[in-house]
Amino acid sequence: MQVILAKHAGFCFGVKRATQLAFQAANIGSETYTLGPIIHSPQVVQRLEEMGVIPVDNVSEVETGGTIIIRSHGVAAEELEAAVRANLEVVDATCPFVKKAQEHVATLSKEGYDIVVVGDAVHPEVQGIVSYAAGRVYVVSSHKDVERLPRMSKIGVVAQTTQSFEHLHEVVAACLARGGEARVYNTICDATAVRQEEAKKLAGAVDCMVVIGGFNSANTMRLAQICLELLPRTHHVETASQIDEQWFKGVKKVGVTAGASTPKWIIDEVIDRISAIDKDKIS
Ligand code: SF4
Repeated sequence: MQVILAKHAGFCFGVKRATQLAFQAANIGSETYTLGPIIHSPQVVQRLEEMGVIPVDNVSEVETGGTIIIRSHGVAAEELEAAVRANLEVVDATCPFVKKAQEHVATLSKEGYDIVVVGDAVHPEVQGIVSYAAGRVYVVSSHKDVERLPRMSKIGVVAQTTQSFEHLHEVVAACLARGGEARVYNTICDATAVRQEEAKKLAGAVDCMVVIGGFNSANTMRLAQICLELLPRTHHVETASQIDEQWFKGVKKVGVTAGASTPKWIIDEVIDRISAIDKDKIS
């Protein structure tokens, strides 16, 4: 059975950086905490917990003198300020692409622009970005939402990093159609789109797909959904132990991909497990 791994399966740049910073902090040995789970991988979170890195919901739960790690999709400005005020050692693992979006919002806001953020209002990354606005700020999920916004003469637009370019383009067009001035920063990161395009191609070329990643990871769930629409023999697993050899009956080619928060060690374990299956011996 041939196993084909997608070229960009697993950690994106920002998640890799955040995870490395968390493991480095764990090795230093002081009391270390993450504000929320560092990434959407229960196995990475558990491994860090075993090394003494504890996820907390609030800065107030951290002991004085402790270290707090900010997750890759960032936190609200007030939470960061609270950590500094509490004299905590802050390891800011916010992805530089998310940081850029936060900085653009702060600058545009200071320059008198009302802010439009294209994204999902309940996502923590968007809530963090929004918190950097000093004045009016609106989150829109589509160009239709723009019609419902109040009158604005200067609009500054940024996007959640995982939005599609087409989506941003539609919102910008709707803003421009209202008249006045619009300044736009394309803050989209292509890591998600690259993984989705690869998954589509792979699902069209194999007999069975295995998608690896946290069941709480939105980008992994989306990858699995995309593959499933093209190939009913698609299976989403978090770990190698969830692989069922019955899935591979009569299969010649298996495609494997993984969400942006899936570590390499789990991908390797899944591939080893699939490679060890003798499809001719499946009853
Ligand atoms: S998906 Fe992009 S923006 Fe998000 S953490 Fe990864 S590299 Fe950063």
